[in-house]
Amino acid sequence: MAPRESRKQQATEQKAEPAQTAPRFSIDLGWYVARGRSLATLLARRMCPKHQRQWGQREAEGSPDKAIAVFKSCCSKEEDFLDHTLSLGEAAFRVLLAEGNRPLAAEEISRRLGRWNTAMEQTRDTSVATITRVLSHDQFYGFRREEPKE
Ligand SMILES: [Zn+2]
Repeated sequence: MAPRESRKQQATEQKAEPAQTAPRFSIDLGWYVARGRSLATLLARRMCPKHQRQWGQREAEGSPDKAIAVFKSCCSKEEDFLDHTLSLGEAAFRVLLAEGNRPLAAEEISRRLGRWNTAMEQTRDTSVATITRVLSHDQFYGFRREEPKE
């Protein structure tokens, strides 16, 4: 793609907030609490080496919001953060971490995974339908599905 075209596309993407017609997904912190599962463990393992040293699991346990914010400001920028060997659920989880757990429509997740997909030899299905299905049925990452307001 020519650089000029890609700039133009970015400008359009920023303007086009997806309509509130699709469900949005985020990481449900309460889901972990209710199931006695540790979000902190998941977070600590996905931090960059520097933050893994700084953030023990106990700290992440105490303030998951702050731990998630670290991904947005730093750890998600690591080159291998969205490694192409990841499962789709894991990749979506990491996209949400990179966005500070702002609820995203499957379309936005799909767009962000577009680059992840093109970096792979084998094309994987990152369509809106597949992302919606995988995130809606997941029992591991605690995705919350927010239905659009009528
Ligand atoms: Zn970091």
